[in-house]
Amino acid sequence: MSSKGLMIVISGPAGTGKGTVVKELVKDDNFRLSISATTRAPRGTEQNGVEYHFLSREEFERLIQNDGFFEYAEYLGNYYGSPKQPVIDWTQEGRDVILEIEVQGCEKVKKVQPDCISIFIKPPSEEVLEHRLRKRGTETEENIQKRLARAREELPKADEYDYVVINDGLEECVEEIKNIIRSEKQKS
Ligand code: ADP
Ligand code: 5GP
Repeated sequence: MSSKGLMIVISGPAGTGKGTVVKELVKDDNFRLSISATTRAPRGTEQNGVEYHFLSREEFERLIQNDGFFEYAEYLGNYYGSPKQPVIDWTQEGRDVILEIEVQGCEKVKKVQPDCISIFIKPPSEEVLEHRLRKRGTETEENIQKRLARAREELPKADEYDYVVINDGLEECVEEIKNIIRSEKQKS
């Protein structure tokens, strides 16, 4: 194992399956998932401190002022950010840290951590993306439309990532990402 852990950024449009893929990846004990903070409301069965740290705008802005974020961005009217300290501590302990964040956040991470590995997860098609977003059953129609519009803006950004993986079959997608990380670890 390299002395310092890898930083792995995973992005992709809403509904592409990032959360599902990451849940599989973190079953491997060496991975640590950065739990983001957000000002959006919890949805479905989401719990504070598990999927996200749910904060008010005031709390989030206080953390921005106190330099508490490794990166943060606004997405569809809410703040999302990666708390700084866990990311730093884990990589120094030699853990591979996964940041599941949107494209602006990835651009910021690349500036401060140019050796991070960036992976963009694409859906097989826009139709499948819409189907998955609806099937998840967590969004209002308005939110689905906003996320699909945002997806059309985000998809061309895939070219800026080190790797693009298509999430067609879940198992294959997870395996492909594990292979990418394995080969990157051999390089480091
Ligand atoms: P994201 O985190 O990118 O917004 P999710 O992980 O919530 O996406 O996945 C969106 C929906 O698609 C969920 O209902 C999930 O179970 C489903 N899903 C994820 N990957 C696949 C796949 N490979 N095939 C079919 N459905 C999938
Ligand atoms: P959702 O509301 O669907 O959970 O997330 C919306 C978007 O915010 C997704 O693209 C997700 O990857 C992104 N996101 C989640 N946490 C962070 C974060 O800490 N920073 C940034 N920049 N984006 C995040």
